[in-house]
Amino acid sequence: MIYADYNGSAPLCNSVKDYLIKRLEKGPFANPNAIHYLGVKTMMGMENARSVCAKILGADFDQVIFNSGATEGISTVFHSILGCDKNTKKIIITSGIEHSAIINTANFYAEEKGYIVKSLPVNHDGIVNVDSLQKWIKENQGNIALVSVMAANNETGVIQPYKEINDLCTQNDIPFLCDTTQYIGKTPFNFKESNIDFAVCSGHKLGAMTGTGILLVKDPTTLKPLIIGGGQEKGHRGGTQNYLGNETLAVALTSINEVFKNINKLSEKRLAFEAKVKKAFPAVVIIGENSPRLATTTYISYPGIHGQAVQIELESVDIFVTTSSACSDNMPVTSKVLKAMGVSDDVGRGVVRISLCLNSPLEYYDQLADALIKAYSKLTKVKSF
Ligand code: PLP
Repeated sequence: MIYADYNGSAPLCNSVKDYLIKRLEKGPFANPNAIHYLGVKTMMGMENARSVCAKILGADFDQVIFNSGATEGISTVFHSILGCDKNTKKIIITSGIEHSAIINTANFYAEEKGYIVKSLPVNHDGIVNVDSLQKWIKENQGNIALVSVMAANNETGVIQPYKEINDLCTQNDIPFLCDTTQYIGKTPFNFKESNIDFAVCSGHKLGAMTGTGILLVKDPTTLKPLIIGGGQEKGHRGGTQNYLGNETLAVALTSINEVFKNINKLSEKRLAFEAKVKKAFPAVVIIGENSPRLATTTYISYPGIHGQAVQIELESVDIFVTTSSACSDNMPVTSKVLKAMGVSDDVGRGVVRISLCLNSPLEYYDQLADALIKAYSKLTKVKSF
């Protein structure tokens, strides 16, 4: 079996499984905010996890806010910056390739609070246009409330010029939220060095428990809690903490930190895999082929063959891929990301996303190439559209 949907969700990593087995036997289990011995011990375990996460992510201890995942982190940032009536700035800038967690939240603030959402154009290689951002900042001096652009795209794996975007935002005193959900854990990331105001991650993309995540905040005093509750997480996120889950974040990040050394080999092997399939079928298109991409993501299309047909063929030999981002699965349409890139429908409907992890055996790419070539050989005889 090859699980190739890590961008959708990663299975629990082995170190997390081992940790949980021991942890569940040993305890402690208590409210980490309780003042008795077991509570204090539980809190100490969780705070130790926070310092491990902070160290690996290059953040200060206080800059790590545990939550339920990237969607919550994103909503918290929007709420902190735009949910207050004192904000007189009226423009939110995002891009055409953002995840729905960003796009729908921005649209909510447009509908409910009268903000204007401007979406940065994206080129055919899947890269957000920084010149447009520069132009819009000049044209709208003092009126931009928030810029939110991702670090790496969940469908294409294309890495975005988030450092340049951050520089522009810093120079112009504009808060910058970088959706690092797909970037953290797939490529080294140092929050402080990045100088970004807000970054997010989801535990289930890293091999930690689902329903966990981290919001990284440059200045925690800028946060306004989305969940008020009893002042947990230093008042930034109410509700008794998911201490077990938060501990698994530290375990998963520690394991990932040890496999960053595999990036170059995986990236080379992925390129060889793509070249092999293209050699067998020159009509095949690799989305974002000319751009810097995550080492583990390939978004591949055979124009005229439906992506879902390819996915079913691969599944019949125990290989699990998706046709587009998890949320819009089962919809036989060109995804919004591909539309923003100007990809035609015959290519857009044909895509499958193959996403591995930094720990995946290199041989997987040989097996994937063989299976994909077999699937295309069969399906080209019965073209779907
Ligand atoms: N941002 C990106 C780029 C994602 O890929 C995802 C999930 O697929 C999210 C945000 C939302 O993450 P979650 O559903 O874990 O909150």
